[in-house]
Amino acid sequence: MDQQKLINLILDGNEEFFKNHDGEYFKDHETCQSPFITLVTCSDSRVQTDEILPDPVNRIFSVENIGNQIKTAEGSVDFGVYILKTPVLLIVGHSDCGAVKAFMKGYETVNRNIKKELNTLPLSMKCSDKHDDGKFESDLHDNILVNIDFQVDYAISKYKELINKGELVVIGAFFDFRNEFQKGYGRLVITNINGKTQLA
Ligand SMILES: [Zn+2]
Repeated sequence: MDQQKLINLILDGNEEFFKNHDGEYFKDHETCQSPFITLVTCSDSRVQTDEILPDPVNRIFSVENIGNQIKTAEGSVDFGVYILKTPVLLIVGHSDCGAVKAFMKGYETVNRNIKKELNTLPLSMKCSDKHDDGKFESDLHDNILVNIDFQVDYAISKYKELINKGELVVIGAFFDFRNEFQKGYGRLVITNINGKTQLA
């Protein structure tokens, strides 16, 4: 591993951004932020905020962890909802989620910190045999949806007052980069709004 090369990769990447943005760009949000979405999504490198919304700067307050969970980052999610008062809480699961796969395969041997964050995934997810590929893949898809619904339900129980007052909507969605919903690659498919599932 050539560390200098990796450092240059980072610096070059920022150079690109730096060249295209001047002080004017930051002026509106230098001292405060006003996002309208609190996003809870997976840390997975294949899921990024700008795939969900172009130019997410000052628009998405992003909370990322393995398995797009509220419980493992509850303070951060509360910060977005209660302090920044975003009118939207968007929970995004995604194709091929490694956290859900680990849950299905068993994760006894992983270190205790990782185990702690996998332990809070919903127990109602199915654990199928990874040797039966077709079954495993379809259970994986279903479990990702189960997890999204679980997180939405948890959010509804936490923030029900804001939801009842119409000040917050909780949206569950699946970032589909494998075209599992037959709606195209890279589509954000909304699967749950305030607990209402099976959306068209
Ligand atoms: Zn994931």
